[in-house]
Amino acid sequence: MAYEVTATRKRPQLFDNLVGQEFVVSTIKNAIEQKRIAHAYLFSGPRGVGKTSSARILARALNCETGPTALPCGVCPNCKEITRGNSVDVIEIDGASNTSVNDIRQIKDEVLFPPQTSRYKIYIIDEVHMLSTSAFNALLKTIEEPPAYIIFIFATTEPQKVPATIRSRCQQFHFQLIDLHTIKACLAEAAEEMGVQADDDALFWIAKESTGSMRDAYTLFDQILSFSQDHITLEQISDKLGLVGIDQITEIVEFLLSGATQNALMSVQKLLDNGISIEQCIKDFTQFFRSLLLMKEGITEEDILGIQTDRIPLVVRGSYTKEQLEAALEMFLKLYRDIRFSLNPRFELELAISRLASLPHLASPTELVRKLASLKEDLLSGKVSQNKNPPRPAMATPKPEQKAVPPTQKAVEAEPVHRASEPDSVQEQPPVSKEPPAARAFTKSDVPTLVAKLSKTPILSQVALSIKEVEQENNSLKLTFSTGFCRDTAQENSELLGSLIKEISGYTGKITYLCTETEPTIHKGVEDPLLSSIASLFRGEVKNQPKNLQ
Ligand SMILES: [Zn+2]
Repeated sequence: MAYEVTATRKRPQLFDNLVGQEFVVSTIKNAIEQKRIAHAYLFSGPRGVGKTSSARILARALNCETGPTALPCGVCPNCKEITRGNSVDVIEIDGASNTSVNDIRQIKDEVLFPPQTSRYKIYIIDEVHMLSTSAFNALLKTIEEPPAYIIFIFATTEPQKVPATIRSRCQQFHFQLIDLHTIKACLAEAAEEMGVQADDDALFWIAKESTGSMRDAYTLFDQILSFSQDHITLEQISDKLGLVGIDQITEIVEFLLSGATQNALMSVQKLLDNGISIEQCIKDFTQFFRSLLLMKEGITEEDILGIQTDRIPLVVRGSYTKEQLEAALEMFLKLYRDIRFSLNPRFELELAISRLASLPHLASPTELVRKLASLKEDLLSGKVSQNKNPPRPAMATPKPEQKAVPPTQKAVEAEPVHRASEPDSVQEQPPVSKEPPAARAFTKSDVPTLVAKLSKTPILSQVALSIKEVEQENNSLKLTFSTGFCRDTAQENSELLGSLIKEISGYTGKITYLCTETEPTIHKGVEDPLLSSIASLFRGEVKNQPKNLQ
């Protein structure tokens, strides 16, 4: 027997075989049973959901020797001829290639002759919206007063392009997209009939890709079957069609979450080296973050998610906030739009992956405002002290002189000699202990060890990585960071850093945190209203502020 594509082989021959269109099917069946037969039908809906198949079943139902019946016999000459497509009384016209008024005039002439062997002369016009305006006008005359034996069945994917004058003379039926599980079940049935083994996740993927079109699903199924050797697996599909598997994306995201950006970037390189296109990579990442976002909102239907939920580990699902997922999704959607104009799409993808690494630290403005408010509350209620360091006698009670230190102040150091005039503004790091300096000095070569020890807190390991200079003289260790942010973060975590440095080199003396970043000149005496209001939030006042903020 000649090879027949699955879509043709599985074409429904009865209304009851039509999947996913229960409403349409029951209405048409009832109408036929009650002998309420219209002279024009309009079947609208997306492609590949059964419009043309329904038109043929309807033609058989009307012309079957046992009919009109909702259950055509399928064996009488009329049924057989319609199935084969060579019935003289059922005329199929492709609206897309017969758009002119002359084609329609021909129909107008033909309808004057009654059917030869059947009850009705049926015209099935596919893609009817493609007809020209004059063709529609010519057709309108015929539909208005058709001979009793004429029936038109129009099918279209774009009903809004069919003139209202035509639509209003038709019984309209809207066909819907077929849901993912129904498609998957049909594919499983097709595979079983062919004696082919098919993995569940592979069929799920095909069903998802076909986006509700049964015909697309069968076509894709045939294509995959051609390279699958009697066993359809998702691995093979990913491999042959150049897809990024969900497992691979999960792996990359897990690397990013653990701070191993390098491994994540290498995994992406590997995907690209394996021939997966950059566009496909971006598409799959977009799909991944979309699914995570929907899951965050509590959606569990795999139909909607387009992903089998158990494929994503719980730890990944819980690692991002809604805002972070929105940001990631937005980034990939924008990236897909932008790569067409990019100097090098590969760079764009790498940049996106690198940005994903800092995603868990991304806070939305709403979140920041909330945190600031709660911090203010804590400060006012005295839950947290304004100074982490043990208060010196002079500072035991909060005084108006207590100064807020501007975040941009260069090199927060403990050298009183530099700031003798402003003792209160100095953030001093008290020596961890008064023991004499250790036998070994902490040097730049110890930085990688420090980074490794901080690997569990990605942000701190990044901070440690940004140490540019290490200088130690007796009981004073100076760490110079590349940015003010890193210096401040290090300062905030000085206790942890101090203990790790002690572990590495035995050094227990004072640590001073510096930075190399060029910062605005500090200008004294003039207050900026914005800075002052921020400072007042924390019950401080602005002593020094950068010139460029005035
Ligand atoms: Zn029949």
